[in-house]
Amino acid sequence: MSRVAVVTGGTRGIGAAISLALKSAGYRVAANYAGNDEAARAFHAETGIPVFKWDVSSYEGCSEGLARIEAEIGPVEVLINNAGITRDAMFHKMTPQQWHEVINTNLTGLFNMTHQVWAGMRERGFGRIVNISSINGQKGQMGQANYSAAKAGDLGFTKALAQEGAAKNITVNAICPGYIGTEMVLAVPEKVLNERIIPQIPVGRLGTPEEIARCVVFLASDDAGFITGSTLSANGGQLFV
Ligand code: NDP
Repeated sequence: MSRVAVVTGGTRGIGAAISLALKSAGYRVAANYAGNDEAARAFHAETGIPVFKWDVSSYEGCSEGLARIEAEIGPVEVLINNAGITRDAMFHKMTPQQWHEVINTNLTGLFNMTHQVWAGMRERGFGRIVNISSINGQKGQMGQANYSAAKAGDLGFTKALAQEGAAKNITVNAICPGYIGTEMVLAVPEKVLNERIIPQIPVGRLGTPEEIARCVVFLASDDAGFITGSTLSANGGQLFV
């Protein structure tokens, strides 16, 4: 029987590409989303991938959502923590709400999800966890103190858990995408994209969601069993770390 994979934020952008790539690789995929029912319905109609709505910043929400997936599809063997948001502001203007929303979704969301599949993975002696962090967690980004802090936290979380999971055949890795052409990035004014962002990318273009999805499929595979605690940078040469 093929493995069960859950992708948070799996109905749009990078997550949608990950859901599709895992399905094509033979996984039984469940795609989570937060509130955009229209996009989720369209994604389900197009791909046949079942979609499940809950907010990853809620521990109880994750618990209920995962229980539904386990009952309908099976125990989660592969978890892709992809859901993420931005609430950008210069720090002197950043509100506590902007700080907490981003930390709760982009960092605590990883705890909420991973904590609930961890025991099952340990018992079965197999697990793959891939956390989608960001280049801005590696280098920091003006106007994104909240986002950079959360995404850097994701990397520490990855490295600590990798050490705990290793003896149980659970790998935990992170991917740091650079600028990828999704709604999150295409919301940036075109002038800023063309004059400030793309010129900083040595390959001269935005990345595609599919390029990130192929990294995920590799890290989820049996072939990647010796890779854990690593950070895979996929950023068009913008930052070497
Ligand atoms: P999108 O905004 O295109 O999609 C975000 C997805 O996450 C949607 O499915 C959304 O659901 C879901 N989501 C958001 N908040 C929650 C929540 N609280 N609970 C459950 N699901 C949630 O984002 P991207 O595809 O651009 O980004 C995906 C990940 O990649 C994020 O973690 C982001 O930080 C990271 N990243 C993106 C980069 C980029 O250039 N795009 C660069 C580096 C990292 P809904 O549709 O219901 O809103």
